Amino acid sequence: MRIVLLGAPGAGKGTQAELIVEKYQIPHISTGDILRAAVKQGTPLGRTAESYMSKGELVPDDVVIGIVAERIQEPDCTKGFLLDGFPRTVVQAEALDKVLKEKRQDLDAVLSLEVDEDEVVRRLSSRRVCQGCGKIYTATDSAADEAKCEACGGKVITRADDQPEAIKRRLQVYKEQTEPLVEYYKKAGILKGIPATGTVEDVFGRVTSTLDQIA
Ligand code: AMP
Repeated sequence: MRIVLLGAPGAGKGTQAELIVEKYQIPHISTGDILRAAVKQGTPLGRTAESYMSKGELVPDDVVIGIVAERIQEPDCTKGFLLDGFPRTVVQAEALDKVLKEKRQDLDAVLSLEVDEDEVVRRLSSRRVCQGCGKIYTATDSAADEAKCEACGGKVITRADDQPEAIKRRLQVYKEQTEPLVEYYKKAGILKGIPATGTVEDVFGRVTSTLDQIA
């Protein structure tokens, strides 16, 4: 299955993505994770990306398109993939269509996680993440703030782009540049709206019933 996961920052894409790839045994391609790894390693890509990411801006289209176009050619993607955080602009969506067309492939579904803006702000402000393994916590978790990660012992921090100013900018960028993709994929007939409120399990239940209908 070839799936795109769409949704505002804080809609729960990362959390649902982990569950989806485990159940459907497909690779998880998160451009955010790839870029954060490059920043951490201090590669040229990471140095380019960091200045955009810390401000909540999008990394230029050609950079991320190049990353994804290469990644989906890898042998593990022959059984499908889950794209998380890509595409984020219409230009990226068109580039993805083009790469897939060359491979005579189509997307099976675009899952759009729907959550209102107040909830998103609340979630992002309380999100903490392990610097070591990327495990996500909420500030209300007992182990969340400035604590050690229960999985790897790494330091649990607030992402630079989860600071209030960056959150504001990311939501603005989402509305202006990413939300038009809802219409784009609706027109293509593959958009599946998923209400993303309730528990992680509630949302995952909606995701699996949608995907099971497609499979
Ligand atoms: P995420 O973890 O998906 O919220 O991504 C974190 C940050 O990485 C974003 O705010 C952007 O700066 C950058 N990023 C991730 N994916 C993309 C993309 N598809 N296009 C442009 N920038 C991206």
